Amino acid sequence: MASFRKLVELYEELDNSTSHMKIIELLAEHFQSLEPAEVKITAYLALGTIGPRFEKIDLGIGDKYGIQAISRAYNVDKEKVEIAFGNQGDLGDVASALNERQRSSLTLNYVFQHFVQIRDISGKGSQKRKINLLAEVLSKARPLESRYIMRIAQGNLRLGFGEKFLLEALALAFTGSRDNTSKVEDTYNICTDIGQLGESLANHGMDSLGKFSIKIGRPVQMMLASRVDTMEELNEKFSGTMAAEEKYDGERVQVHVDGDNIKAFSRRLTYISAQFPDVIEAARESVKAEKIVLDGEIVAYRQGEFRPFQELMQRRRKYHVEEYVKKIPVTVFFFDVLYLNGKSLMKWSYPERRQVLEENLVETEKVKLAGRVVSADFSRIQHFFDDCVEKGMEGIIIKSVKAKSTYRPGKRGWLWVKWKKEYIEDVRETFDLVIVGSYYGKGRRKGSFGALLCAVLNESEKRYETLAKVGTGFKDEDFEEINDLLKKYSIEKKPVNILIDSNMQPDNYIEPAVVIEVIGSEITSSPSHTSGQENSGNGYALRFPRFLRIRYDKGPGDATTVEEVKHLK
Ligand code: ATP
Repeated sequence: MASFRKLVELYEELDNSTSHMKIIELLAEHFQSLEPAEVKITAYLALGTIGPRFEKIDLGIGDKYGIQAISRAYNVDKEKVEIAFGNQGDLGDVASALNERQRSSLTLNYVFQHFVQIRDISGKGSQKRKINLLAEVLSKARPLESRYIMRIAQGNLRLGFGEKFLLEALALAFTGSRDNTSKVEDTYNICTDIGQLGESLANHGMDSLGKFSIKIGRPVQMMLASRVDTMEELNEKFSGTMAAEEKYDGERVQVHVDGDNIKAFSRRLTYISAQFPDVIEAARESVKAEKIVLDGEIVAYRQGEFRPFQELMQRRRKYHVEEYVKKIPVTVFFFDVLYLNGKSLMKWSYPERRQVLEENLVETEKVKLAGRVVSADFSRIQHFFDDCVEKGMEGIIIKSVKAKSTYRPGKRGWLWVKWKKEYIEDVRETFDLVIVGSYYGKGRRKGSFGALLCAVLNESEKRYETLAKVGTGFKDEDFEEINDLLKKYSIEKKPVNILIDSNMQPDNYIEPAVVIEVIGSEITSSPSHTSGQENSGNGYALRFPRFLRIRYDKGPGDATTVEEVKHLK
């Protein structure tokens, strides 16, 4: 049985490693030394979580509870813990400094099971029970172990890498080669539970790839759309009949209906049913099938009118949900179906799926089918686009109607292509960039950030490369929100998956976690930015970047890619 200590040693080694390859090797070697069931647990713990993204993973241990647990575990006054926390800023470090225990025999399983128990405590007196249980685990741990127990309990592990590294390490550990990473990634698009996938790879190696199918309750990665530069290109790409659907500016949602049990998942595959009880109820009313998985977009919608994205974002909340259900009514527009009564429909063509969708939904005020036209006459498509823009929509998504128009989870291919109004209104483009650094503000912005260093994703290198320093476009209310996020994600050391030129050194490094939408005029080349930089030559830079909004619905893995920027150049 694996000890927890071994995992802690791995954490320490990972924390001291700065090379991508080294991290993959360390992880792979560690995985190989474990039983399959331990691989499962370790896959979660290596990412600092205790389960797949689509389950509840928050243990509910804020600083206040953490301080009490440490005080109890090590018999130290709460005030003393608070002072140490004030000085050190990390409760993991505080716990390890106050812990004087020299021995421990904690197993990996013991620690993991206790994390799960802490998470599951709810109801009356839950605060006290959570603290007691965490204190019990801490009291049995050695100093170094308590550091990581605290960090995981608070969702604060931050080793500077994400799922992509882990998938690569699993490929190396169990298929014999990193070259199989993209196959492992494809499987992960369908089996999005990284622990389950890890365990299966440990058991069956290559044989487990491609064996997974969509399952109710486990969301698949969402299919995405590509973009083109001109409307003529659309016509060429889809020659003949095509479908054009309204493109809504809202939040992507995958709804899983299993009889009375209905769940909603976000584009990042997090569980969002609690935020949208009205969507769950609306689906209950509209869906005719016993078991079905639907794909759609939640939009702020009032009396037949589309409301702006910003309004919908106010629905992203833990508290006062009922109040906001009334204040900001939403409608969900469904455009796809992936599963019906025990059968995956992902290999079916889009026209076949659309038919199933229409047969299984009753439209109401709160549930609608995506509006569309299907035509071989391109001028009809153009008119449809104009109408959509008129109605306040973002644009259209053209969808292939060919026999091969399957649903491809996690893929941004040419079966779906978006065409947005920004593309014609102006030459300006929007980019989804990841914040990787910040600079101190001066003058009126003293005490706040002055500018943000932002990056695009280099998919093949699995790292973030800088494209712009964004210092304009922020409204007064944005500062507080962004400062909070910067505080949350700021890290001392530059993570290995960020590439920053020496000319651009920020005052603070920010862990890649927050995505912002930025508008800019054109892509130029620059010696100070690292995106697309080959052999230390010039990189791409965005001219006149301006902040538009925070994209909470996107994770760093959804950012604009270097390839996309290259395409626009
Ligand atoms: P953008 O940044 O342009 O809003 P995106 O980066 O969020 O788009 P894209 O792949 O560019 O994602 O566009 C697909 C997104 O558009 C989907 O994730 C979905 O949220 C949204 N969408 C709105 N209407 C539709 C539709 N009819 N069919 C498919 N996706 C739609």
